[in-house]
Amino acid sequence: MRKHRRQIVSVGVLLAAAAVVLAADAGRQQRQGEPFTTAIAKVKEGLFVIPGYDGAATGGNVAVRVTSEGAIIVDDKLPTLYKDIVDKVKSVTPLPIKYVLNTHQHGDHTGSNAEFLKTAEILMHRNARSNMIKQNLPGPGRIVYRDQKSVFIGDVEVQMRYMGRGHTDGDSVIYFQDLRTIHTGDLVVWGKRSQGTTLTPLMDYAAGNGSGKEWVATLDNILKLDFDVAIPGHGPLLTKAEVRAFRDKMQTLNQRMADLIRSGGGKQDIAGRLKLDDLDWPFPDGGLNGLFDELSKR
Ligand SMILES: [Zn+2]
Repeated sequence: MRKHRRQIVSVGVLLAAAAVVLAADAGRQQRQGEPFTTAIAKVKEGLFVIPGYDGAATGGNVAVRVTSEGAIIVDDKLPTLYKDIVDKVKSVTPLPIKYVLNTHQHGDHTGSNAEFLKTAEILMHRNARSNMIKQNLPGPGRIVYRDQKSVFIGDVEVQMRYMGRGHTDGDSVIYFQDLRTIHTGDLVVWGKRSQGTTLTPLMDYAAGNGSGKEWVATLDNILKLDFDVAIPGHGPLLTKAEVRAFRDKMQTLNQRMADLIRSGGGKQDIAGRLKLDDLDWPFPDGGLNGLFDELSKR
């Protein structure tokens, strides 16, 4: 999608620098132009990622937090990848997966829930659970929260934070505060799908009550967290600067759509008049109709 921009690291902050180098190592194998791998990769000490690049073949990124009392994973891809996830977690810890934290309800992030529910506890935002129930998706979480929730296990705290609407109305940001790392779910996506097409942010108005308009403020809330590595819903590990770049693109998209509407443009003008090439977000035909409708409301 774009060339890797190396983060400039201030010399004084050795710990932070070491963390960034580690993240860059894990991220490098997923960058555009190199083969897509779904091998489990170390993000930081005690934290791994099982990469995911798309909704269909590889699912979303799974984070794996290893503790002395068991593993916590974030999201669980597709039903077909349940065994693959379990095997890959086994390669980094002999202990069982105790908790699954879902970033949102979509099937490429909750696909193995039905299997994991037999042996693990599943947590998600209250709205994500409601969305699953409405759509009859298998394996809704048994534990929900509204603003913030923590899981404490093996001297590790993993936080779930609700930061506002965006991709859906039930997106959780998972905060590994001690490691200064977050998993954003699909509030941030980056790069290409494994079949080669470029990922664009999806505003799920129909099944998720998402909001392109509120998404910018939600990203501002995320940027207030103290982190130097972000695991997006799909794509390579990102720096905080890259999350900020994603936020700025989302704001630009909103501004341009608002300008189009203000100038009397209709949905039929989106394809011809809405500038998108510099954002490198090739939305499918009709993919921005929901944002048009949302921003047209007075
Ligand atoms: Zn999604």
